[in-house]
This record gives sequence, C-alpha cells and structure tokens, in this order.
Amino acid sequence: MSEYRINTKCVQGGYTPGNGEPRQIPVVQSTTFKYATSEDMGKLFDLEAEGYFYTRLQNPTNDMVANKICQLEGGAAAMLTSSGQAANFYAVFNIANCGDHVVASNSIYGGTYNLFAVTMKKMGVDFTFVSPDATEEELNAAFKPNTKAVFGETIANPALTVLDIEKFAKAAHEHGVPLIVDNTFPTPINCRPIEWGADIVTHSTTKYMDGHAACVGGCIVDAGKFDWMKYADKFPGLCTPDDSYHGITYAEKFGMGGAFITKCTAQLMRDFGSIQSPQHAFILNLGLESLHVRMARHCENAMKVAAFLSASDKVKYVNYPGLEGDKYHELAKKYLPNGSCGVVSFGVKGGRAAAEKFMKFLKLGAIETHVADARTCCLHPASATHRQMNDAELEACGVYPDLVRYSCGIEDAEDLIADLAQALDQI
Ligand SMILES: *Cc1c(COP(=O)(O)O)cnc(C)c1O
Repeated sequence: MSEYRINTKCVQGGYTPGNGEPRQIPVVQSTTFKYATSEDMGKLFDLEAEGYFYTRLQNPTNDMVANKICQLEGGAAAMLTSSGQAANFYAVFNIANCGDHVVASNSIYGGTYNLFAVTMKKMGVDFTFVSPDATEEELNAAFKPNTKAVFGETIANPALTVLDIEKFAKAAHEHGVPLIVDNTFPTPINCRPIEWGADIVTHSTTKYMDGHAACVGGCIVDAGKFDWMKYADKFPGLCTPDDSYHGITYAEKFGMGGAFITKCTAQLMRDFGSIQSPQHAFILNLGLESLHVRMARHCENAMKVAAFLSASDKVKYVNYPGLEGDKYHELAKKYLPNGSCGVVSFGVKGGRAAAEKFMKFLKLGAIETHVADARTCCLHPASATHRQMNDAELEACGVYPDLVRYSCGIEDAEDLIADLAQALDQI
C-alpha cells in the first residue's frame, strides 16, 4: 500500500483479501484462538511466533484497522485502544513511570489534562505544562534529568491552538526523549506529525476517524524512528529484560520499529485491558473508508462558517486556524496546508447569557458533548464541561464564559449559516 496516495489508503489500506476471501474486513468475533499443541501456544506467549491467542491482547480485525491507520500516519507499528483516553495514557505510561517527568503543552483536551495533572500525578508521574507558544528557551527550561517524553496536540481541543511540531520535536530530541502528538483533530488527512519529527502519534478515533458518533475508540502509532537503545538508561522498560515477559528486552528483540507497540501490547494491554472490541474496529473502518472525503467537507464548511461569524456584528471573536488573521494561521499554513478541522469556536456578544440563549435557538447544531461528527453539534463549555469553574477561573484557562464550540458537520454550509444567522438574530 505504501506506493499509493493517502486517499487510496483510506479506502483500501490495512487489508488485501486473497482469492475468494471476503471483500470487507472480517469481524473476528472470538475471544480466543485454537491451537493443536501447547508448544504452539507457548511460542506465542514467549513472543517467539506471531499469532493470536486472546483478544484482550490482539485480534485480527483490530490489527487490520490499526494497520490502516499506521499506513495513513506513515508509521512503523500501531495498535487500537478502547478510547482516546486509553491511547494517551498508554502512550505516556509505556515510557514514563513512577518517579518520571513529562513536558506537556498546556493547550490540550480537558480529559487529557485531567489524566496527566491528577490521575497520573497520583501514580507518581510528574508533568510540567508549557504554553504551545513557548520559545525554545522556555521549552528547554521545562526539562529535568528524569524527563521521558514531550506531549502536545496538533490542533488543541477546544482551544484550536496549532502546535509547532518541529519546535517541540527539536526540544524533545535534544533532550533524548520522544515527542508524542495527539493528532485527533486534523487526522492524517490534514497533517502527518511523523513527517515533522513526531515519534508517537495518538488518536481519539471517536472523532473524525469514526466520524458518525457511533464508537468510542483510540489508536497509537509508532513512527519507529526513536532510537531507544541510544538512551537506554532513560528507558529501562524498553532496554532491559522484562521479568514479567520471560526476560525479553523489547528494543533488542523488536528493534526501533517494533519495540514500543510490542511492549505496549504485551504489558499495558495485558494488564489494563483497554482493548477495542472487533465490532467497533469494523465500524471504525467503515468511517476510515470515507475519512478523506468527509474531512474536505468538514473543513470547507468550517471555513465558510468562520468567515460568516467573523463578519457578524453579534459575534465578539472567532478562533479558527484556517482563518486569515487568526493567531495560528501562519502555523496552520505550514502544518495544515489542505485544511485544519471542522471545529470553530467563537464568542457571542452579551456574554454567558447570550451564548446560552443563542444555542437554544439553533435547529441544526445540536447541543452535545461531542465534536467531529457528520452532524453539526455545539457546546457551551461554561455551562457543560467547565461548569464547576467560576468566570475568573474560566478566563484563566482561556475558556471564556461567552465561548461556543461549534463542530461543523458535512451538511450543506448554506443551511448551517442560515441556522446560525436566525439564532444570532434572536439575541
Ligand atoms: C476526545 C479527545 C480525546 C479523548 O478521547 P475519547 O475517545 O473520548 O476517550 C483525546 N484527545 C483529543 C484531542 C480529543 O478530542
């Protein structure tokens, strides 16, 4: 598949049927797999032979879909997880354990921020949060001797900041650690972080990849470019024998291309079990088949909606990286030349009350805790995801009381704009 363009990989990547085999990927609806002898199975347990033995670790359907996403991102190996939360947790915890430290952008998804700042902190992993706009000096100053990774989001949810991937990759590599990038919002259709120096890419496949609000899921892709053995003292989990896995040294046995995902599967998936069901992987793949077609329409609609909102005298500000004059437009031109995403955020004049009133009048844009769906949806973070914060706290984290997050679906842009216009007229 590597010789084909990305649109073709969306449709046909990950699975090539043989003669007389099913055209669509088979759903291997089985928790377990049969073997003739215990020796055969023993080889699988020792990671001496490739094969399946229990769906908590690996399942052929999941592997086909992970393989497609791996091809889309230009990676070496990939795995599916039960959610985007599980993907980000595994990606970080695979290399950063109790006593370790991670540098993360402070402009990230709220769930990820909570995972890092509260839950992983309780596990003994310490995070330093930096601005996505940090200078090289500020970035370098965030590193400690026990830093094991750098983390950021290509386009942050919901702030819509754009990560300077090359700058973050350079800082990470100068300190001998990998860069992990959550690429959920642009998807590999609009940006492939590995091409800009990222080492690990994660996804909430719940968003555009599935694209139909049907299945929660996640994915981790390893570029296979980080030389763990060169920094063996930093990454003992990959570079010294794993006693819980028959003394295997992952970086030696599986090399740069296989070590990260094999360890993540053999240890973390074995022990935490956040596997995606093969049914969900099948549905995710249906979404992936049209990802390239949908992303183009999401972005086209968002550009039109952002332009309409910018021109409205009822709107105070609009954040959309595709928009000329946006704070992140220059970075978007570099990293997202074909479009950014379908999510636009904006402030309604009249503050919190006006934002709430406006949303009540929307007919096509449904109020949902979701983004990146074929159907347009919107959220007023101050009265939903961030409702425990007062106005001063909201302003401190850049989620203003008047902010509306509007996720453009793939409906007709003229209908979306007419819906927005009638709702704005009522405030
Ligand atoms: C939604 C989201 C997540 C979490 O994914 P789930 O599939 O909901 O667990 C992580 N990162 C980003 C950027 C997201 O938008």
